[in-house]
Amino acid sequence: MRLSFLGAVGEVTGSRYLFEVAETRFFLECGMFQGRDAHTRNRVALKKSGEMPDFVILSHAHIDHSGLLPRLTAEGFRGPIYATPATCELLQVMLPDSAHLQEREAEYLEKRKDHGPVLPPLYTQADVRVCLSQLVPHEYGQAFDPAPGVRCTFHDAGHILGSAIVTLQLTEAGQTKTVVFSGDLGQPGHPVVRDPERITEADVLLLESTYGDRTHKNFVQTLDEFAFALNDVLRSRRGNVVIPAFAVGRTQDILQIILRLYHEHRLPAMDIYVDSPMANAVTRITMNHPELYDCDATGLARWLREGQGGPRLHFSETVEASMAVAQIRSGAVIISASGMCEGGRIRRHLAENLGRPECAVVFTGFQAMGTLGRRLVDGVRSVRLFGETCPVRARIFTIGGLSAHADQPALLKWTDGFTRAPTNTWIVHGEPLGAQALAAALQLRGWPVAVPSAGHSVVL
Ligand SMILES: [Zn+2]
Ligand SMILES: [Zn+2]
Repeated sequence: MRLSFLGAVGEVTGSRYLFEVAETRFFLECGMFQGRDAHTRNRVALKKSGEMPDFVILSHAHIDHSGLLPRLTAEGFRGPIYATPATCELLQVMLPDSAHLQEREAEYLEKRKDHGPVLPPLYTQADVRVCLSQLVPHEYGQAFDPAPGVRCTFHDAGHILGSAIVTLQLTEAGQTKTVVFSGDLGQPGHPVVRDPERITEADVLLLESTYGDRTHKNFVQTLDEFAFALNDVLRSRRGNVVIPAFAVGRTQDILQIILRLYHEHRLPAMDIYVDSPMANAVTRITMNHPELYDCDATGLARWLREGQGGPRLHFSETVEASMAVAQIRSGAVIISASGMCEGGRIRRHLAENLGRPECAVVFTGFQAMGTLGRRLVDGVRSVRLFGETCPVRARIFTIGGLSAHADQPALLKWTDGFTRAPTNTWIVHGEPLGAQALAAALQLRGWPVAVPSAGHSVVL
């Protein structure tokens, strides 16, 4: 049997691994590349991997793990795609959104034809509809056999709703190997989701390393900073708080944090506006899965359902509702996307609030180089929004400690669960520094560890 590393090697996007076991070949993940050269890489990615897989197994719904599935369908793949039920539901929202972005980009390039021949979108809504019909849900802890010699089990990875650690028992010529893929592992104590499940046995381990070289700020400190920022604006200055947040995961984390702080009498009652149709859809899906929550989140679910007492929660769907929120001058907490302020409704709220010293913008997530979010975090004095120069007079807060990925101590603690060192551990899903640091830390414990290169192929 053979394993090939096709993506998320030396980087965090484009997650994809090819397994060949006797007559069966399958992908673990089929993620989209993001960042530099992504446009070209996503077009050629699947061509390089030869013939079609028989099926795909998916760890979670994030686009850098799932985003090339409709492309695979567009190229003729009709096999099953296995994922947890919550992942399947999230994909119903996320893949159409991704197709929409692809179609918009193609239209944009069509308009400025000077750049050579225009390519069709990477995939369309029609491709997504077929792709979604190929999803086959399986619950955590319930083993299933996608093919003879392949047994798969999902375990809770505690990263986002429905995220999974994937255990594969692969049998060829009477020999069985247990392969464990960590997926994206959550930081223990993270809001809403449970802590990652411990796994005890593996012959081969694929371990993520996004923050393999970091230690996160502790969560108590994060709550303190959050309470300070909101009180400063809502009680003292009487402005608005604008929170740019990813629709999937982060928006729901923030809602839970606000509710918790309110119950601890550390925040006043307030009006919270969630202004992102995708965030609204994902929050609804989250509410439908109370069985996946950690104990804190059960209170959140009740609040979302009954909507009485404490902070008042408003979801805006339509553009008109969004524009009405943008007219509010004080006392509002506005959570909107995109998380790095590159597009979406958040830009309108920044345009209305950035110029007012009584307001604040609270960043809770990583801001990539070159994004508007990063420029604000770096302290620029003015920005361009809707063709106009907007001075930055609002306070800018950057709050760490909310990462959905385990840091190095948490990754090492998770590996403590194994009763013996796996025969081989491959460090994946990390930039070179993170991957090398995590590999070094495991080597110190005497584990055989390697960082694969892109395209690398090994016999298991
Ligand atoms: Zn992820
Ligand atoms: Zn990831």
